Amino acid sequence: MKSKLFFLGAAGMLFFQTGFGQTRPNIIIILADDAGNADFGFQGCKDLPTPNIDAIAKDGVIFRDAHVSSTVSAPSRAGLMTGRYQQRFGFECNDGNGYTGLNTSETFIAGELKKAGYATAAFGKWHLGEKETQHPNQRGFDYFYGFIAGSRSYFYRPDKDDKPGNKNQLLENDKPVRFDGYLTDVLAEKAVSFIHSHQKKPFFIYWAPNAVHTPLEATSEDLQRFSGHPRQKLAAMTYALDRGVGKIVSKLKASGLYNNTLIFFLSDNGGAHNNQSSNLPLKGFKGNEYEGGHRVPFVVSWPAKIQGNRHFDGLSSSLDIFPSCLEAAGKLAHTGKPLDGVSLIPYLTGASEGSPHEQLFWRKDQDASARVGDFKLIRVNQLGFRMYNLKNNLQETEDLSQKQPEQFEKMKKNMQQWESHMMKPLWTEGAVWDTITLMIHDDLFHNRDVRVKEPQQLKKFNK
Ligand code: CA
Repeated sequence: MKSKLFFLGAAGMLFFQTGFGQTRPNIIIILADDAGNADFGFQGCKDLPTPNIDAIAKDGVIFRDAHVSSTVSAPSRAGLMTGRYQQRFGFECNDGNGYTGLNTSETFIAGELKKAGYATAAFGKWHLGEKETQHPNQRGFDYFYGFIAGSRSYFYRPDKDDKPGNKNQLLENDKPVRFDGYLTDVLAEKAVSFIHSHQKKPFFIYWAPNAVHTPLEATSEDLQRFSGHPRQKLAAMTYALDRGVGKIVSKLKASGLYNNTLIFFLSDNGGAHNNQSSNLPLKGFKGNEYEGGHRVPFVVSWPAKIQGNRHFDGLSSSLDIFPSCLEAAGKLAHTGKPLDGVSLIPYLTGASEGSPHEQLFWRKDQDASARVGDFKLIRVNQLGFRMYNLKNNLQETEDLSQKQPEQFEKMKKNMQQWESHMMKPLWTEGAVWDTITLMIHDDLFHNRDVRVKEPQQLKKFNK
């Protein structure tokens, strides 16, 4: 099979170290929130400076066909953290009617690494359940500094998010805490402190700031820096995100830990319609089945073990992070239910060639999609199907469902087979979002501009 790895330059060879020693790597997952596919320098972005994230990409491998397992936050995190299609356990939609969070019978990456002797910490947004039994400290994290639900202010708000009992109030483990300054900076400083006090044994850090999710808040200094910028708020928030990543990387380097730290960088779903983000040239955005919903910026870096300065074009998933961590941490046996992801490490060391996956699937309530080889199938219950060949039509504009009936039937069959192993969602996002998501897909199916993207617009549209 043809190798999917592309060398960006011979210089990378100079830094490739074969003898990475006996010590197990530290592992850091950096998960951005609602960041656009096109909004980082390493993805070709010209107007949002991200030098620190780009430097990780330079030292690592940039994935060009990588996907999260959901187009929205909570189920995407559920897939990432369990390494399993979240539809297997009913966590298919964002927290909506009847939300019960993530079933505690599922095994988390953090729990497996903790059992293997890793010090574990989560920073930022959780969004995986609000019950005591679902708290990060109960799911394998020794330390938690962040908030339990899906979004909050970037500043301390005792009158709102930080009101006692609010599910978005900032917590240190289970204790509400006050913080000064801008949350993205604070989350980075807390991660730096954790690294500082855990240098003796390997650590696992899940760094999941709410950046660059709404509300679009930034510091006045960062806003001033981008005064007059057409995407001023996003530019300022992204700059702070990048600054936070820079602080963590600097600490790793100063501690001599950087080379033997495995870093994943990705966004939890496609750029949203409401945060000035861009997924271009992809079609669609957060919440829908087009590539803009689930194809994300994705980097894996581990200088001591994986040659950097390269691209990888194999079909890959956020579900692959869990098994990759198990392998990197010393080929740990997985003690939970069977994983859907596969380890990316052999594809990055050259031990394996080709694609980690021949097919991937997505489903959120009424909408589903499938990727088989270069083909993509989208199904929206009330609208029917679309099929595209991404190899020559990444923008998903030319429907091939009638032109290539054999391929179309095969894809429908594969999707059906996959769905037969999944359960029905335990909760949905409710009638209003169902209507909006249907309208969005209707416009995208017909290559039209999207008319309605959120409830406020629906009210105006219906007047
Ligand atoms: Ca998100």
